This record gives sequence, structure tokens and C-alpha cells, in this order.
Amino acid sequence: MPMLLAIDFDGTLADKDTVDWFCAHYAPAVFEEVDAAFARGEITLDETLARQVAPITATEEEVVSFLIDTVSIRPGVPELLDFCDAHDIEAVIVSSGFDNLMHPYLQAHGYDLPVYAHSVTFGPEGMRVQLRGRAECDLCGVACKRAEVRDIAAGRSIAYVGDGPSDLCAAEDADLRFARASLAEHLEQEGYAYLPFENFHDVRLGLATALGVAP
Ligand SMILES: [Mg+2]
Ligand SMILES: [Zn+2]
Repeated sequence: MPMLLAIDFDGTLADKDTVDWFCAHYAPAVFEEVDAAFARGEITLDETLARQVAPITATEEEVVSFLIDTVSIRPGVPELLDFCDAHDIEAVIVSSGFDNLMHPYLQAHGYDLPVYAHSVTFGPEGMRVQLRGRAECDLCGVACKRAEVRDIAAGRSIAYVGDGPSDLCAAEDADLRFARASLAEHLEQEGYAYLPFENFHDVRLGLATALGVAP
């Protein structure tokens, strides 16, 4: 049966949250202040993003190089992608980060995956977020990934892999969930079944078990 495998980028495919990471590196004081406001529930994830990148005047090339040099991809991606090819599973990245940073990062690692994400512009006035225009969600009240993942799936079953706040709503909606960190805590609390993962061997094995095929 054809399936969509929607993979979050930050803290999931990449072993760090790359947006937090470069914001904390280039504009640490603003990062801390805005992160605390988000943690207190005062601002949305989209506002958090916009405010944290705003003071950064590094170039796109500098930020991409910084990420390539300092952020790793979790192990097991090549084996997972081979498994997906063999079993009619389309792997895509659905992220609340920036596609123009992810594409060169992925290319540097030899991957060419479809990316559904926001974009960001660079300049002497700072970085500006270009939101992808996700619809405001009836269920969680913010512009989340749920409807977009449903659209991409186009009737196929959905497996979702994620780690954090941007994943909660879309992960709830998936047929098969892989979770770590705060996403795992959330699904646990809300009573949704999920498989824990720390790398993409775990995801491949979980998919193989769910499909009843060899990993
Ligand atoms: Mg994440
Ligand atoms: Zn939602």
C-alpha cells in the first residue's frame, strides 16, 4: 500500500534544531528572550521564528556553512530511503524551518528530498521570514502542518516522524507515529500510540514491522 513518510527536519532529520542553533549562535540574547516568551505561551511558533532571525545579519552562505560544519544528520537515512524506494513509500521533509537553508545542507550530505517549509531572506537589515502560508488549523488554532501533510499524502496512509512543538498536530493525525523528545511526551500524555526513535534505523525497523516486510 502506498504511504507518505513525512519527516520533520529540526531535531528529527538533523540531530539539532538548526534554527535554534544558528539563532543562539548569531543572536544569543534575542534568542533567549524570545524563546522564554514562547515557552510561557505568549507568542506563536511563527512569531518566535520571525523575532529570533530578525537581528541576524550574517549572509546565507555563512549560515549554510555554519550548519554544514556543526550539525549532523541522524544515522540510518540511506538505508531508510532504500527501504522507502522498495516499498512505495514517498519520503518528504515537512518543516517549520527554511527551505533555502535545508536544500544546500541536504545536498552537502548527498540527499535530494522534497522539502515543504518556510523560506527566509538575508540582508544588512537582518533576516526576514517568508511564511509558506499554511492554513490556520481548526484543531490546534495555529498554522500547523496537519492539513499540508494530508494534502501531500493525497489519500495515502501517513507515517510521521518528529520531535517537537511544530509536530504535535500533524503527528496526532498520522496513521503511524515516530516520536522523540517533547513530541513523544505529548503523544504519551494524550494517549496516542507511537514508536520511539533516536535514528532512522529505528524508523525503518518500525515501518517494516508495521508493513509486515523485512527491514
Ligand atoms: Mg523538530
Ligand atoms: Zn493543527
